[in-house]
This record gives sequence, C-alpha cells and structure tokens, in this order.
Amino acid sequence: MKPAEFSYHRPGGVSAAVALLAGLGDGARVLGGGQSLVPELNTRRVTPEHLVDITGIGSLRGARRMGAGVRYGATTTHRMVEDGLVPDAAGGLLARAAAGIGHRAVRTRGTLGGSLAQMDPAAEWPTVFAALDATVEVCGARGVRSLPARELPLGAFHSALATDEIIVAVEVRELPPERWWGLYKTPGTGGAFAASLAVVLYDTDERGALHGVKLWLGAAQETPVRLAATELLLTGRSATELDVAAVLPGVAQDLDTVDGTRNDTARHALRVHAATVCRALAGAERVGRPAAATGRGAP
Ligand SMILES: Cc1cc2nc3c(=O)[nH]c(=O)nc-3n(C[C@H](O)[C@H](O)[C@H](O)COP(=O)(O)OP(=O)(O)OC[C@H]3O[C@@H](n4cnc5c(N)ncnc54)[C@H](O)[C@@H]3O)c2cc1C
Repeated sequence: MKPAEFSYHRPGGVSAAVALLAGLGDGARVLGGGQSLVPELNTRRVTPEHLVDITGIGSLRGARRMGAGVRYGATTTHRMVEDGLVPDAAGGLLARAAAGIGHRAVRTRGTLGGSLAQMDPAAEWPTVFAALDATVEVCGARGVRSLPARELPLGAFHSALATDEIIVAVEVRELPPERWWGLYKTPGTGGAFAASLAVVLYDTDERGALHGVKLWLGAAQETPVRLAATELLLTGRSATELDVAAVLPGVAQDLDTVDGTRNDTARHALRVHAATVCRALAGAERVGRPAAATGRGAP
C-alpha cells in the first residue's frame, strides 16, 4: 500500500517546526527517521494531512558535552551512537544499546527522539534513558520544558508529549569511572525487538559486593519497570554468585507475578526476564576500563 496524500514541510529551525505544528493542529505529525512512522503511513494505520520533517534542523543532530554530562540532539541516529560519532556518557552502554537496535539500515535513519516519542514497550532507549536518570527536553508552543526520561512513558506507544511538542534533546550525566553497567537484550521471536531487556548499574566494594544498584527492565510491561525489590536482593551480593534461581523471587515481586504460577506463558516470561537480568549482570563492564581489561566478557 502507499500512504494517503499529505503535505510535506521541512522547517529549518525548532521555532519554525513548533510554530508549524501549533498552526496545523491534530492533522500534523513530526517525521524523524521514519523507521516507525513510514510503515504506519504505508499501511494507512495513520493518515496525517501534514508531515513536519525535523531532520533538516542542524541543531537537533549530534551531541555536545556540557557540564557533567552529554546532550544528545533528538535527531542523532542510533548509528551515530553505535559508531562512536558522539561521546558515550555511559562508558559504552549507549553504544551497546544502539548496536542492538534492529538492523544497520534501521539504525542509520532511526533517531533517539523518534524512538522516545514512539514509546514502543520493547524499544531500547526508553529503558536505557530511564535507568540512566536522563532528562528529556521538549519544546512546544507554550515553551521549553524538561522532564525525567522515566516520566516520559505513559503506556504502550503513549508518551507524555503534547501533540504540538517536539523532543529536542536528551541529557545524560556521565557515569563515574568506578561504576559498572550491564545491558542484555533477549530478542523476541521476530528477531529485532526485545522479548526482555535488562539494564543494570552498580558500584562494588573491595570484596566485589554490589551496592548502589539500579536495575530496569524493558519489554515486560507497557512502560519500563524499575526492579526495586531485585535491586535490594542484589545489594551486598557478588555479581558472579547470582543465577536465575537467586534473582527470580525479586523479579517476580517487581513484576507482580507469582513464582510458580500455573499460567505457562507468565511462568515462561518470568524466567526469561530473570535470565535476562542475570546475563546483564554477567556481562557487566566497568565504565573506566575497556571491556577486555575487566576479564568479564559478554555472556
Ligand atoms: C525492522 C525494524 C526493526 C526495529 N527494531 C528495533 C529494535 O530492536 N529496538 C528499537 O528500539 N527500535 C527498533 N525499531 C524502531 C526504530 O528504532 C525507530 O527508529 C524508532 O522507533 C523511531 O525512530 P524514528 O526516528 O525512525 O521516528 P519516526 O518513525 O520518524 O517517528 C516515530 C514517532 O515519533 C514521532 N517523532 C519522531 N521524532 C520526534 C521528535 N523529535 N519529537 C516528537 N515526536 C517525534 C513521530 O511523529 C512518530 O509518531 C525497529 C524498526 C524497524 C523498521
């Protein structure tokens, strides 16, 4: 199928884009990399009268260091992050996340802002940016506002953006060199989006025990979930001593699923999520050291 007819707009700046969106109203959609929107146009799942293409706005592409963090423009592509064309504020975590997204062609056009606005429950960036406590800057007719990345998701394919708002940037504080990060994606049956996605951050003491644990899970519910009970369970333990049986009770509590449920699908999903958490822990890398030097490769 081909898209229904629409008018195409390519503003040169954020103010012009926002003014266009405000003026055109509900019949207008922002076009980022088009990797989610174009298939929806082609199948006529959505039929906007106007597309406002923001990829020509130079100030939205690329990243710059500022203060203790890095500001990523909304039309920075997954490939730019994967290839290290922008700084990685999380010591390799962002590049790892980007490299796991779909195929190279998708990563070449797909953008950080587009992924956050799309808010697919199984997408990488909503979970990664929530775990990193990132801040999302949005601009609309009523001005600019910032909100924590974890407050952007409201449900599956539903974000806190107003229809006239554009995601402008994502700001990520640099992780300190002694912090560890782990990310593991268990692919879904289609092979692209995740069936489960775990992101873990932690420090270790001199005995190798975990503290300051932050653990987030994607593809489990409509929005990324913080696994607070599992964080507590991991605290004080060594990452190497943790297996599926050890983390399962925490994950079950966090997901409100009864371990041992008679529902086969729920029981299977719970084990997949627990295994994904374990693999994120097993493959964790220290921010300040290259992967090879940690002696703990990917699982
Ligand atoms: C085959 C395939 C496999 C994929 N696999 C994965 C995967 O494994 N993991 C994953 O995370 N993603 C995956 N994706 C999705 C991909 O990451 C898309 O890039 C992303 O979902 C949308 O980004 P985009 O820039 O292409 O946005 P678009 O498709 O242009 O837009 C998506 C939505 O966001 C809105 N929008 C876009 N930019 C902005 C902005 N700056 N501000 C406000 N609204 C905006 C649009 O109006 C639209 O509603 C896959 C896509 C395909 C086609």
